[in-house]
Amino acid sequence: MTPRADRFAMSKDSNRLPGTALMRWPRWRVLALTALACLALLATLAGFEWRSRAAALADVQQQSDNLAAAVLQQSAEVVRQADFAIGMVRRAQQLDGRSPAVAVSVREVVAAEVELQPTVIGIAIYDAEGRLTSSSLEPDAAPPSGTDLDFFREACSVAADHLHVGAPLRVSLAGEWFLPVARRLSERDGSFAGVVMVAVRLQALQDQFARLALSDNGLVTLMSRGGTVLVRRPFVLQAMGLSMAQISFWQQHVVARSAGSFTNTSPVDGIERHMSFVHHPEFPLLAIVGVPPTLALAHWREQALRHAAVTGLFMLLLVLAGWRIQRDMTRQQRLAAELQRSMTHLHDLQHAIDEHAAVDVTDGEGTILRVNDRLCRLTQYGPDELRGRNLTVLDSGRHPDAFHRAMRQTLIAGQVWKGEMRCRAKDGSHLWLDTTIVPFQTDVKQPAHFIAIRTDVTARKQADQAIRQAHQEAAAANEQLARLAAFDELTGLPNRRHFNDTMAAELKRAQRVHQPLAVLMVDVDHFKPFNDTYGHGAGDECLRHVATAARKVQRRPSDLAARWGGEEFVLLLPSTGAEGALAVARLLCSSIEAMALAHSSSPRGHVTVSIGVYAAIPALQTRPEELLEMADRALYQAKQGGRNRACLYERELPVSTELDGVAA
Ligand code: GH3
Ligand code: MG
Ligand code: MG
Repeated sequence: MTPRADRFAMSKDSNRLPGTALMRWPRWRVLALTALACLALLATLAGFEWRSRAAALADVQQQSDNLAAAVLQQSAEVVRQADFAIGMVRRAQQLDGRSPAVAVSVREVVAAEVELQPTVIGIAIYDAEGRLTSSSLEPDAAPPSGTDLDFFREACSVAADHLHVGAPLRVSLAGEWFLPVARRLSERDGSFAGVVMVAVRLQALQDQFARLALSDNGLVTLMSRGGTVLVRRPFVLQAMGLSMAQISFWQQHVVARSAGSFTNTSPVDGIERHMSFVHHPEFPLLAIVGVPPTLALAHWREQALRHAAVTGLFMLLLVLAGWRIQRDMTRQQRLAAELQRSMTHLHDLQHAIDEHAAVDVTDGEGTILRVNDRLCRLTQYGPDELRGRNLTVLDSGRHPDAFHRAMRQTLIAGQVWKGEMRCRAKDGSHLWLDTTIVPFQTDVKQPAHFIAIRTDVTARKQADQAIRQAHQEAAAANEQLARLAAFDELTGLPNRRHFNDTMAAELKRAQRVHQPLAVLMVDVDHFKPFNDTYGHGAGDECLRHVATAARKVQRRPSDLAARWGGEEFVLLLPSTGAEGALAVARLLCSSIEAMALAHSSSPRGHVTVSIGVYAAIPALQTRPEELLEMADRALYQAKQGGRNRACLYERELPVSTELDGVAA
């Protein structure tokens, strides 16, 4: 693995965001968990409600059982009272024998009994043939013949002394209902002698039933063991005396057991009820109590609905919470992924910057908070040597105060500062850093910290310096060359080339503006002998003196004195006519003579010059060489004329000016 790849791999690991395993859960898992929680909740609720329902049903059954037992007991009490009356009648019969007075005695006893028993309407006695022999009932209230009566038939057919309860009877259509309770009468030999029937007031039992706390559509029925409806609440006329012996519930449930429960739809009113029944152990009676299951479970249902509503709400909250958690997790996962990408990007960016530039972070006071490796490498300081110190530790001291002031003002104004700074490394060497400082403000007024990104431009700076120096040297050389090209090295006067260029320009100007132009050709007299006498160096010195004199006679800025070559000089005098030119020539001759430079080989004993002068308004076709030629001719004339003089070129003959008093 290359160092780069290694670093890259490390950067990925070190940048991984911390997060719980939950954060990385996929979406489906949260949804599945929520669904599972809902299902568990539903299952718990269903189990609970199922048990509650069973408990509610058990409760109802218990209540029904209790009620049936209570009803049976109350009814049996009434029947027992009737039986008590029967017993009394039978004893009276046995005491009285069969004398004619028996009937009277019996009636009296019965009357007394009826008086005593408010639940007894009356007593009737039937003989063995079923004839009504005695009755305390209203006239015609007791059926005249017992053979049609169920209790008579039962008593007749069963030898044992059983209590018989017959189907309810009515004295008349508008009369009162009563329940016939009977026992057989036996002869001394045990043969059937008839039946004693006590009419029990049905209303007494109905009143008892009415006092029972019974829900709507609740049913209380007193039945005979043979399946005949004796008393019923609610009262239904058609049900009175109705036999249930052939109905399936009777066969299936009631006959076989002494007590129990079952669910049945009433053949009387068509209402389904949960029934509890109990047989009386002694009397042929049983009580049935019925409660509609809807009613029995009404409370349970109400509670179950409430539980279901609460559970539903809870599930809704659970689903909402699951949805929100899932949504938040998705969002967080997305944010985390973005953050991861940003961090990786930032890390790569930082790595790239660190590879390229030196970075330091300082606070508002200039205290170094952080540095990167590159800055340390450049400045030769370790990170710990820089952290906590002021940035001035890197100051080279080479920048003026104004430089630092301007930088501070820029940064305090919250602006980015860019520039090149000269810094000092730990070993005292200087380096140039191209610097960008970015202020980061947490407060509007005060920058909190500054991040400086610096690149080392020392090499470029040095190269720039070298180039600048080379440029300067080249410029100096060029200047020297230009000077050599245009000036004479010995005298410092412009040389012939320079003079020619200037003369050409001035000639054109003179031709254009139609003004005179003068050219003076100066030659040192007897210079060869001077050299021969005083040496070449003295000759050079002499030439420099002549040059100085020529330079001094220049009056106008446009005047130009130059060395033509050897011991010859030229003067160009723009806008100068013959007179002015001659005056200048004379002045030059006299000033050189006045120098009194010794020249023993000259007839005059000192250095002199001869000057040829040409001055005219040049014609348009006049060329520069012609001006020089004219001046040279005048010079020739001056030499011919005896030297130390100036000669003006005239059209045919130059005019000579003798300095020592001889006029041209
Ligand atoms: P005339 O009066 O007729 O001008 O005579 P002359 O001797 O001055 O004339 P000639 O032309 O024969 O001599 C010119 C001399 O100037 C020859 C040469 O040695 C000398 N010369 C030319 N240039 C230089 C120079 O640069 N330095 C020195 N020292 N001498 C020079
Ligand atoms: Mg000469
Ligand atoms: Mg000469």
